[in-house]
Amino acid sequence: MKKIPAISSSDYYRIEELIDITSITEILESYYQATGIPNGLVGPEGELLTQAGWIDACTHFHRGNDETNRRCVESNCELLEQAQSNKVSVSLCKNGLYDYATPIIIEGHHLATLFMGQLLHEPADLKYFEQQAETFSYDKRAYIDAIKQASVIPKDLIEKQLDHMVQVTTVLAENALSVIREQHLQQALKHSKKQRFEMKELLDNSPAGISWCDDAGNVEYINHTFTRMLGYTLKDLPNVNIWYEKAYPDPDVRSKIIAHRKNWVEKQANSDSIFTQSYTDESTLRCKDGTTRRIVSQISYINNKQLYYCTDVTEKWRSEQRNLTRNRMMERVAKEDKLNSILHQLITDIEADDPAIRCSVLLLDTEGKHLLNCAAPRLPDFYNAAINGVEIGEGVGSCGTAAYLGKRVIVDDITTHPYWEPYRELAASAGLRSCWSEPIISSTNKVLGTFAIYHETPSTPGADDIEQICFAANLASIAIENLKNREELIRSEQAYRSLAENAPDTIARYDREGQLIYTNPNFAALFTNSHPENENRHEHYHSVINRVISTGIPQQVEIQVPTASGHCYLMFNIVSEENEDGTGALAIGRDITMHREMEQKLEKQARSDFLTQLINRRHFFELANREMMVASRYHNPLSLIMFDLDHFKQVNDTYGHGIGDLVLQKVADVSQATVRATDILARLGGEEFVVLMVQTNHNEACQSAERLRQAINGAAISLGSNEEISVTASFGVTTIQFDTGSSHSINHMISDADNAMYRAKQEGRNRVVCS
Ligand code: GH3
Ligand code: MG
Ligand code: MG
Repeated sequence: MKKIPAISSSDYYRIEELIDITSITEILESYYQATGIPNGLVGPEGELLTQAGWIDACTHFHRGNDETNRRCVESNCELLEQAQSNKVSVSLCKNGLYDYATPIIIEGHHLATLFMGQLLHEPADLKYFEQQAETFSYDKRAYIDAIKQASVIPKDLIEKQLDHMVQVTTVLAENALSVIREQHLQQALKHSKKQRFEMKELLDNSPAGISWCDDAGNVEYINHTFTRMLGYTLKDLPNVNIWYEKAYPDPDVRSKIIAHRKNWVEKQANSDSIFTQSYTDESTLRCKDGTTRRIVSQISYINNKQLYYCTDVTEKWRSEQRNLTRNRMMERVAKEDKLNSILHQLITDIEADDPAIRCSVLLLDTEGKHLLNCAAPRLPDFYNAAINGVEIGEGVGSCGTAAYLGKRVIVDDITTHPYWEPYRELAASAGLRSCWSEPIISSTNKVLGTFAIYHETPSTPGADDIEQICFAANLASIAIENLKNREELIRSEQAYRSLAENAPDTIARYDREGQLIYTNPNFAALFTNSHPENENRHEHYHSVINRVISTGIPQQVEIQVPTASGHCYLMFNIVSEENEDGTGALAIGRDITMHREMEQKLEKQARSDFLTQLINRRHFFELANREMMVASRYHNPLSLIMFDLDHFKQVNDTYGHGIGDLVLQKVADVSQATVRATDILARLGGEEFVVLMVQTNHNEACQSAERLRQAINGAAISLGSNEEISVTASFGVTTIQFDTGSSHSINHMISDADNAMYRAKQEGRNRVVCS
């Protein structure tokens, strides 16, 4: 392929680039053949491009002589200079021949000069040439013959011919030029076509949706991304008003968006700055298929065109919205708001996503058989009332079926779906045409209710819609379960509280500082209410509480608590317990007063004589041996009195054994009243008694024995009906002085006292014998 010469402003085409030099040579040659006029074409720098028909006069003579050659060249140069102007130039050469030259000018550029010449206008002036032959020593005859060969052409004719040749050449050059130009143009066209194509590709496949409209709002362009994103083609949106109506079907939303944008445009128009900035907003748009997308729009003005860029931020926006919805709901759940108000808010949030939908939450009743209204803020009351309490089952609308099957139910068109057969009129009067229902499932896989999305037109859910309804049902499940757990907690708390409050035990809980945080009524009655000082008094008890809190090891502690009627004994089991703010303690106290009193009674019984309540023999020996040790250590005198009732057998025999017992009791009482507090009085057995007297010498002991004898003797036992009996006793007294160093025992003392007493019996009874 022929290379197309490039055009540059400084460097125009060369003649040989426009005209094929071989062809022009042939033309000029044949012209010479036809006319006998020698000719030639010279380039702008004087270079010879082609030449035809040089006459002998010039080649053999003029050019052969130094002088005439110089004149010849000079003439040519002058002619060439003249030919720079756009005119035919003629010159009579200094050697006597005429030469003509005309510039070939294309678009003002002098590309070459066409020469014709070596001719005469009239037959040669032979004298002149003979003269010249002599001057330059030419062969006169040969030179004249050569001169005669020169063509004789009148001036106007040669000028016409020259003009004609120049025209031919110019036409050729201009033709060539236009061919070149066309080729350039075609190439440029091809290039720009390619560029245009590339530009369109770029625009169409830009990640942003792009569109523009003219001054009048006529939409001129919509790229592929725009159509892919929103579904609209250029045909759908002839002008921006239609675009606004379709994208924002809600007139309030639409007018707000338009107002904001207009406001910005006006501000821009009033400001001095040229529109270099663009306006950006974010809004929810309706696509051609009725779905909605969240779009960031950017509007700018370039050359009276309004450019619109849009970016789909639906995914990000949805996840943000869902986070907001979730957070809002969790906050309400944490605040323990009412369930229907929580779910009302959830529905409001979900509906805000798409104004074309209406939602409802129905709850399954405790039986698990009926659906109850919970929240459906935008469904008509009559509809909600009609649905409330409906029994679930297959074919009971979308929700009744979804709750029954535990599966999502999609009804695209209520008017044709068999599940809605019984509710068609109801749905029609509520303006409902499609209903998708998602069962609300608990964490333990139980159906709690349904979340439903209604449309006013037949609607099939897309992937986004399914995701949304699942999300909503999940959130609803959290709220419902939380409420159920809360109710369960309250119920179980109430049960435990009732147990604690009615337990016979005292129950108290302490925080990690050992401070009382709970008491049951029993505890309160014993400690805090009637005896507020009691709780604090028990230092030991508190130290045990603190020990349990710090070690975690369970402990038992018994305390005696004063009561209105005396005192009681409490046995506490104390264990550590996790509270909200750390480890505290739980103290459960049991009243063991009865147990303790029984123990004491048994113990007392073991030590005392059941008839007289005096110390019994066994316990007397215990006490006496202890006193013996004390007396021995401190060298204190220790005395012992023994006494035995006189002729007691007769009392029994006369009045009976019962009266005998009464006598024994009376003697015991009288004796106990007579002895000192430090004396140890005991019944050794039968009608025999003993008194151990600490820090008492023999004399004092004998006096005491005498006082006892008199007291017993003086006591009268009434038998009713004015009859009285009295008894006497015989006494033996013995004393130990520890300064003697001899060993002693109670048995010895008893033996000594017994001997003395025996003597008293023998000496006549009712007397004291001191050993
Ligand atoms: P003496 O003056 O020599 O001591 O004569 P006595 O009758 O008191 O002595 P004796 O040892 O013969 O009798 C003691 C009586 O005491 C025999 C017994 O029936 C009676 N007696 C012993 N223990 C009890 C008792 O617990 N209740 C009654 N009612 N009688 C008792
Ligand atoms: Mg006796
Ligand atoms: Mg006796």
